Amino acid sequence: MKAITRVSIAPRRHWVGDGFPVRSLVSYAPDPAAVSPFLLLDYAGPHVFAPAEQPRGVGAHPHAGFETVTIVFDGEVAHRDSAGGGGTIGPGDVQWMTAGAGIVHEELHSAAFTRTGGPFRMVQLWVNLPARDKQAAPGYQSIQSQNIPVIDLENGAGSVRVVAGTYAGVTGPARTFTPLSIWDIRLTADAELDLGLPAGHTAMLAVLSGHVTVNGNERAGEAEVVHLDREGSTVRLHADGNSTLLVLAGEPIDEPVIGHGPFVLESEAALATAIDDYRNGRIGRLAH
Ligand code: MN
Repeated sequence: MKAITRVSIAPRRHWVGDGFPVRSLVSYAPDPAAVSPFLLLDYAGPHVFAPAEQPRGVGAHPHAGFETVTIVFDGEVAHRDSAGGGGTIGPGDVQWMTAGAGIVHEELHSAAFTRTGGPFRMVQLWVNLPARDKQAAPGYQSIQSQNIPVIDLENGAGSVRVVAGTYAGVTGPARTFTPLSIWDIRLTADAELDLGLPAGHTAMLAVLSGHVTVNGNERAGEAEVVHLDREGSTVRLHADGNSTLLVLAGEPIDEPVIGHGPFVLESEAALATAIDDYRNGRIGRLAH
């Protein structure tokens, strides 16, 4: 059984731009090694937006040295980037963006969602890249909901959507630079699930709604994260009510993490270069 090392409490909300009321469930700031290969997990919403004329969100900004993974549950996000990528991320869809050597993008509510308003809920995960891949060409994988396998659990206990990694022999569609798993799990009230996780990987259970009890003794509710020891390979979940959670597991990257805002590099020198590249327009611009 994997031991629980820590349960984080639900953080306060802050706004990212005017479109994303975010709680930062995981951050690399205090101890990067503890959460590696992950850097951040932001949970936006749930929030109900009124109809509007101008799309809310975040205008053009850079990223370098890592990947962003956006999973939309409710609402719609429109994306456009300096590598020529663009698209709409709707409910159930996942966008896996490799910033790598550097990208500039905007993240806005889609035109349709802006007009109608309504419930909005998404997560954005930042996944670090090993130093050898930090200069990878920017790009993104648009992963549609219908291409994400869903495994129904026995006895109506719920379901597992496999975004990345392999669950019960089923492998998710995301291509990753290092071994990692992202599973979007729904549990019905009173469901029990013994979850197998890769031994040696960093592992976290982020509760997005409801309440779960882990290993029979530790409870976690909305916007709380259960951090698990890397030793051992199973964890026991009990849903105290209908619950949704995101399981994140990944092979740790044993390298320095030097971050400044949207840049995360492996050394101060590499960070200074990335910032200089951005300021001098060398990581591209968004077309108007
Ligand atoms: Mn961004």
